[in-house]
Amino acid sequence: MKVYYEQDASLEKLKEKKIAVLGYGSQGHAHALNLNESGMDVCVGLRKESQSWQKAEEAGLTVYTISEAVQKSNVIMVLVPDQTQKEVYEAEIAPNLKDGDTLAFGHGFNIHYKSIVPPENINVMMIAPKSPGHLVRRTFQQGNGVPCLIAVHQDPSGDTLELALAWAKGIGGTKAGVIETNFKNETETDLFGEQAVLCGGSAELIKAGFEVLTEAGYPPELAYFECMHEMKLIVDLYYEGGLTRMNYSVSDTAEYGGMTRGSRLINQETKNEMKKILTEVQDGSFAKEFIEDNDAGQKRLNELREINKNHPIEKVGSELRKMMSWAIKANEK
Ligand code: NAD
Ligand code: MG
Repeated sequence: MKVYYEQDASLEKLKEKKIAVLGYGSQGHAHALNLNESGMDVCVGLRKESQSWQKAEEAGLTVYTISEAVQKSNVIMVLVPDQTQKEVYEAEIAPNLKDGDTLAFGHGFNIHYKSIVPPENINVMMIAPKSPGHLVRRTFQQGNGVPCLIAVHQDPSGDTLELALAWAKGIGGTKAGVIETNFKNETETDLFGEQAVLCGGSAELIKAGFEVLTEAGYPPELAYFECMHEMKLIVDLYYEGGLTRMNYSVSDTAEYGGMTRGSRLINQETKNEMKKILTEVQDGSFAKEFIEDNDAGQKRLNELREINKNHPIEKVGSELRKMMSWAIKANEK
């Protein structure tokens, strides 16, 4: 698999274009600010009533309504939430697209599941940072970047890959490595990863460990440090040097205990359930369920948010983290 680095990408193609970044949330602010500082001609598109309007202007960016931003630009990056992209596309993007414009996404969801079908005369590309937006920004400010996936879905102009690479370079991605993929693979692996491992799997593992310890009578503060706080320290070791570095750094006791006990938890049964989760991603039933919940006013999402917010680990955690603001601040630097 080809990985692109700094010398493989040029900003020139993108420099000639007028760029709009729609949305100024986690990813939007990072893409807009990084590209601006890379010397690109960027504006931001937002709803008139958006809280972010003033924030983006204060950061030195030009802000228009979404319709105006699309009209004024020829490369348009859609960074509003996945579940609202279809509505925004139909009302404000599609009517303002011009022949040869390029539509860009930070995640393949709406193109892959066909809730957005751009006309044939429009280039369609993706630049998906493998990272939360705030790290896309922070690593760039530190002179680095995060790994990105890029993909081209439609290419009537013939140079969309170059443009995607330029974008990835402009936000810092080629410092870390950029991999070319397609919308299907990015979307399906991204959804599976966040459901089974990153967000779903890790959160449930942490909560279950905390519950087992506190139900057995151990103090919640101890359980919090053990099951949530230390998770970051372990994950940092994976990040630096994989399983080997983690096992090298922990004690032999932890290494032996982990290797003999972990596989009793994450076993064939767990993998079978992971395969079901992957099937729901592949056949579109997860996407359908998520969009239906959104159309019902995010009923289930809000119920689940409420349950999580009230979990005892959140109460004890918020108290303990107040005493550790130094640690959180140091990590942001
Ligand atoms: P976000 O929720 O942080 O920000 C969304 C922005 O869109 C905000 O500025 C908000 O004001 C605006 N917005 C919300 N509803 C809107 C509407 N109805 N009309 C117009 N504007 C609206 O979103 P995000 O997490 O940055 O996600 C944006 C895209 O980036 C998604 O496709 C997501 O899958 C992708 N992505 C996100 C991350 C991440 O770390 N959050 C990582 C990789 C890819
Ligand atoms: Mg992801």
